Amino acid sequence: MWKAMSCRFAYRRYALPLRVPVRTASGRWTVREGLILRVENDAGDTGFGEVAPIPEFHTETVAEAEAALRVLDGRIAEAQIATFPARLRCVRQGLGSALRECRAEAPEAATASLPVAALLPAGRDALAAAASRVEVGFRTFKWKVGVAGNDVEMGLLDDLLALLPGGARLRLDANGAWDRRRAERWLERCAERPIEFIEQPVAADARNAEDLLLGLAGDYPTPLSLDESLADDADVERWLAAGWPGLFTIKPSLLADPESVLARLAAAKARVVFSSALETAVGARSALRLAFAWKGEPRALGFGVWPLFADARFDGPAAVPVLRAEDIAAVDLEAVWNALS
Ligand code: MG
Repeated sequence: MWKAMSCRFAYRRYALPLRVPVRTASGRWTVREGLILRVENDAGDTGFGEVAPIPEFHTETVAEAEAALRVLDGRIAEAQIATFPARLRCVRQGLGSALRECRAEAPEAATASLPVAALLPAGRDALAAAASRVEVGFRTFKWKVGVAGNDVEMGLLDDLLALLPGGARLRLDANGAWDRRRAERWLERCAERPIEFIEQPVAADARNAEDLLLGLAGDYPTPLSLDESLADDADVERWLAAGWPGLFTIKPSLLADPESVLARLAAAKARVVFSSALETAVGARSALRLAFAWKGEPRALGFGVWPLFADARFDGPAAVPVLRAEDIAAVDLEAVWNALS
């Protein structure tokens, strides 16, 4: 039965050196590994998807994803996606997105353009980077904290804010590096400063993380956003049920069924920030299409990551201050696929 409705399927594994290592509170990345998926129906229509897992976010590993896809025997049908174990979220997402694209089912854009947040390096390097990003027109900035030492970073905060033009927004991302006391000190410091939000101030697996995050969100004026706490599709549901008052940082590449999760968030009138999972242009195009289709309050995209790869053929649309819907439609996925042959 599957055979009749199935598409030809192939995948290619990649291990792509990053142009510059990415430092976060959870470590240092030098190589991005993942899989690009290609499907083709009998009419010759093609679709591409990407499996770009981040095991620190409790996804499968690349090896687990590849082992699951290797048994497919060159064909895939929509109905098969649900037969993969739920924990293979990136596999489910990549296949779903490739098959939808093959059926020409792109979500409709709700906006013609969206601002992009410039990603600043951790520590003092943020200052020079911010100055040059301001120069080219960025107005939203994201700075990784919890990396360079607390006192150093607190000292840099005002230097950084002083570099930004009026109306600019700064987001901080602690990647869960702070304990309660440290988070409170930062939230006190940020209360009278133009901080758009702080992402994941304390670790998702901290003791009583849910109560701690809800408490911090209730006690201080700076909004908080959940990132690592949203490890899978069900976590979003759990935080909605808990009455989370802050934002939701959504990395569509790491959710099994991002469309359904976003429909749930839209129904709850949640505030959503779309974020890169450091995927190639293939996964980025799927994720950005969902961001452009979001009908809630638009926020700067957490996709200011390119150029990311040493081999620029794998980069998504250049990190410009404003991204247009047509820039995303123009990404050539066949070229990415061919670059891996
Ligand atoms: Mg984050």
